[in-house]
Amino acid sequence: MSSNHDPNCIFCKIAEGKIPSKKVYEDEEVLAFHDIHPWAPVHFLLIPKRHIVSMAHVQDGDAPLLGKIMALVPKLAQQEGCRPYPEGGFRVVTNTGADGGQEVPHLHFHVIGGPRPWLKG
Ligand code: AMP
Ligand code: ZN
Repeated sequence: MSSNHDPNCIFCKIAEGKIPSKKVYEDEEVLAFHDIHPWAPVHFLLIPKRHIVSMAHVQDGDAPLLGKIMALVPKLAQQEGCRPYPEGGFRVVTNTGADGGQEVPHLHFHVIGGPRPWLKG
């Protein structure tokens, strides 16, 4: 469904397979892949394949998709090596807009974890 993609968006290109990524998970609606500049032992991004610009653009109808993404977080975090709660755990971050520090304007959830120290955070 190419109309769901922005041809100038790097994460749309990753979702379409036009730019390679180190995949963690994929289904028809969702992709997870390693962050290219990880700042912790575990650092991957979860994105909707459909081009949603940011959390500020999320609408009521997106709730099932976002719920699905959130429900994937603990499974994929464990799969990628985050240690069990509560000694382990992970961080979920969604930067939104300029004040929120968002660099890539395609909604993404950072999942960050693993033993400290981390480069950031
Ligand atoms: P944000 O600042 O929240 O928009 O984060 C964007 C993230 O995307 C950064 O952590 C980048 O390292 C990551 N990133 C940018 N380009 C790529 C890429 N081609 N593959 C994987 N991660 C990327
Ligand atoms: Zn996009």
